[in-house]
Amino acid sequence: MAMVSDFVHSTAPEPHRIRTRQILKSHPEIKKLIGQKNPTTLWVAVGCVILMTGLAWLVRDQSWWIVVAAAWFIGAFPAHTLFVCIHEAAHNLVFRKPSANIWTAIFANLPTVFPTALTFKNFHIKHHAFQGVHELDADLPDWYEAKLINNYAIGKAIWLLFYPIFQGIRTLRMKELAVFDKWVIANFIIQITFDVLIVTFFGWKALAFMVLCLFFSVGLHPLGARWAQEHFLTLDPTQETYSYYGPLNGPNLNVGFHNEHHDFPSIPWNKLPDIKKSAPEYYDSLKYHTSFIKLFFLFLFDQEISLYSRIVRKERGRVPVSDQSKPDMDLVQAESVKVEAAL
Ligand SMILES: [Zn+2]
Ligand SMILES: [Zn+2]
Repeated sequence: MAMVSDFVHSTAPEPHRIRTRQILKSHPEIKKLIGQKNPTTLWVAVGCVILMTGLAWLVRDQSWWIVVAAAWFIGAFPAHTLFVCIHEAAHNLVFRKPSANIWTAIFANLPTVFPTALTFKNFHIKHHAFQGVHELDADLPDWYEAKLINNYAIGKAIWLLFYPIFQGIRTLRMKELAVFDKWVIANFIIQITFDVLIVTFFGWKALAFMVLCLFFSVGLHPLGARWAQEHFLTLDPTQETYSYYGPLNGPNLNVGFHNEHHDFPSIPWNKLPDIKKSAPEYYDSLKYHTSFIKLFFLFLFDQEISLYSRIVRKERGRVPVSDQSKPDMDLVQAESVKVEAAL
């Protein structure tokens, strides 16, 4: 097959804002889910932090193959769950107070070694508002990544193996979005302190275990198929967001419900299946994934799928860069203002 050398360009605006409006019009009962919070997420994070720290202690003196196997077979799962907790906190879905969400994110960050929770928040919110806009959506591969890896199976495997590094480099292109505030500094100081404590009391091997958990949880592992699932054009050349409805939505806190999440970013993880149940005609008609293992191999070995298999757009809509990506909440609030004005 001919080598692809460009992303798929679209002139349409990002697809979710219009869906939010349409779905709420035909299913107004979804409005009651918008703005709900789920403090249980903090307790899930507490459990995962204890589990990963306990595992790190257990493997601290073991041989390397046990450390690597424990990270791949066990530790990657709570590490991924913690990223989902950080994601929930980024959307302010854990507590009402924004600062309580930030503390949740900083806490959930602890066993994944690098202070990324707060910078993730700043970039992720823009991924929602500007899906496909290359200079604002850090979820899109860089040009050099796409050119280098293209559709080679070995390249895609290496790309997954070093995914956190590629992701980190990408943020350099987001010149409009660099945020460096007191929270980013707090995240940094608390994280470094935690890392130093782990090395002091458990040793370097324990810290290396945590780094391995981080890399496997988002990389060369069935869990890493999540990146292929969310926005790669794996099943349809025009559908740019895909949900995953399968067993890993248990440990992954429903993070597979990605279309539902983009349509309603102000609804917490435990309520995402309710959106699909309320508005099945909007979700059952889309293509979706049911197996991360199947998708993992499809992504690696299907030559039709390359790092260029993404939709990009220049069109930012009329959305300002400061947008906080809560179109569902904004719609509900605008309606209640209208009702009050009419009274
Ligand atoms: Zn999100
Ligand atoms: Zn997304």
